[in-house]
Order: sequence, then C-alpha cells, then structure tokens
Amino acid sequence: GRIKKALSGFYYVDTGEGIVTCRARGRFRKEGVSPLVGDRVEITVSGTEGMVDAIGPRRNVFSRPAVANIDQLVIVASNAIPQTDPYLIDRMTAIAALKGCEVLICINKSDLDHADELCAIYEKAGLPFLLTSAETGDGIAELRERISGKLSAFTGNSGVGKSSLLNALLPELNPILVGAVSDNSGLGQHTTTAARLYHFPQGGDIIDSPGIREFGLWHLDPEQVTLGFIEFRKYLGGCKFRDCKHDNDPGCALREAAENGEIAEERYDNYHRILESMSQVKTRKNFFNED
Ligand code: GDP
Ligand code: ZN
Repeated sequence: GRIKKALSGFYYVDTGEGIVTCRARGRFRKEGVSPLVGDRVEITVSGTEGMVDAIGPRRNVFSRPAVANIDQLVIVASNAIPQTDPYLIDRMTAIAALKGCEVLICINKSDLDHADELCAIYEKAGLPFLLTSAETGDGIAELRERISGKLSAFTGNSGVGKSSLLNALLPELNPILVGAVSDNSGLGQHTTTAARLYHFPQGGDIIDSPGIREFGLWHLDPEQVTLGFIEFRKYLGGCKFRDCKHDNDPGCALREAAENGEIAEERYDNYHRILESMSQVKTRKNFFNED
C-alpha cells in the first residue's frame, strides 16, 4: 500500500481496501531510514495492526515537508493581481525536472487575464500548461483530469488561488491532516511542517503544505540547473567549448538558439538569473565561512 499519513511513529497505509495503522520495523531506524508519506510499502497485517516491512524505490524525496514520490508539481501562477514573476515559474520547472517530477503550469485567474505571453513561452518550451479560473470554473474539469491517478503538489506565490483551486476541485473535501511531520534538517533542529493530503474519490492525491507552497525553500544544484531547462538539453552538445557558460562564449549553441527564437529568450534570461542568484548566495556563505 501507500503511506497516507505519518504521525508519532505510526504509519497509515492505504492498501486500496482500507487504511491499516502500522509501525515500522526496527531495522529502518538502525539504517537511518524513515518511511515517508507517499512511500509505497510492503506490510504484514496481523489483526487490526500492521508492520511496514519494506519501502519501495522512491521517485524522489522532499524534506519540508517530508514526503516521497511526488509525481507532479502543479505550479500555480497568475497574470492578474498578484502577478507571478516568470522567474519563479522557471525556477520551479527546473527543480521539478531535477527531482524527476512532471510539471503542470496552471495559470489561474483566467477570467481576469489570459496570459497570452506566458502561454507562448511555455508552449515554445514544450511544458504543459493550463488556463483555469477558480472563480468561473473554467479549466477545472481539465485540471481534475490532469491530477487523477497521481500524487501532485501545489506550489505558487501567495494569492494566486491555490486554496481556491483546491476548493473548486473538491468542494466537499475534508483534508487528511498529514501534519506534524517531524523533519530533521541535519542541523540539529527539528522543524514541524504541517502538510495536508487530499484524496480524490476518482483517484489521485494532492499534497498541500507550507514548505512546498513557498518557492524560496527549494534547493537547486548549480551544476544541474542547465539540465533542469528541458528544452535546452538538445543544444548542449553543440557549443564550441566544453566548459561553455552559455553566456557570451563564442560559438554557444544555446545563446544562438535564444537569439534566433528557437528557445524563448525569457527562459534563457531566467536561466542566467538563477545562476546569478546562486553565485550571490555562495559568496555570502563564504563570507560567513559557513560552507
Ligand atoms: P492562495 O494564497 O494561492 O491560496 O490564494 P487564494 O486561494 O487564497 O486566493 C486569493 C484571492 O484570489 C482570493 O480573494 C480569491 O477569491 C481570489 N481568486 C482565486 N482564484 C481566482 C480566480 O480564478 N479568479 C479571480 N477573479 N479571483 C480568484
Ligand atoms: Zn553554450
């Protein structure tokens, strides 16, 4: 089954025929592994209780909140107030690609603004996007279809309509509180992040949590950012120099593709903006000697 909720050493496993409350075998603790919400697990049931025996391979792991196997990141954006900076969307699409999640860019408040320019950028990048309005219901049926059968997480800047979309998708919904997932950040601190998991009767789940909602908390690895821009990948072998920074380097295939409109200039610019923001963080870290 799949772990739907983890609380105080108990794991609530959905077997498809009901929820079984489980403990985990002691050896997980010895190996430094904890079962996570989203994990697919093998359990042994005796009476009304169960035991988690094995954890299946993970597609990905997130630390705040502690969840595994997110299939799809739904990036909620808006071109009305508050307007989403496309830089944030591009950051999230890169993270999704590197985490092995599918992505869906959900441009909400379509009743106020059609976001034609944004749509053109993501069309060109080959990234799936969808216009929705939580207000009028436009696009909600399609959104429901696109999240069925998957574990999705919603992210997006505050005020774009994430809560409204959840309500529109599941008007009768009572969230399962995944909450109080204790997360050891590795710094000796335990933070508690409440995450909610919404289950759809027709299949599919959504994780909604502060940690995922905030764009800023997501870590990106500089060496991998380039690969996170999936439409850049086919150009990477074409640069003249192997250590090409894809900036002003002579013979850069990526810059040429941006110049002649094969890739969206906005994506290319945001790619460099991401790299720049990382080098600033690095400098600050070195300054405080906390590498
Ligand atoms: P969140 O912070 O992302 O969860 O955003 P909310 O769901 O709280 O929505 C913020 C505000 O935008 C609320 O006043 C909503 O009523 C409004 N809102 C959400 N979706 C839409 C939409 O599709 N169209 C319009 N016009 N307003 C919306
Ligand atoms: Zn290059």
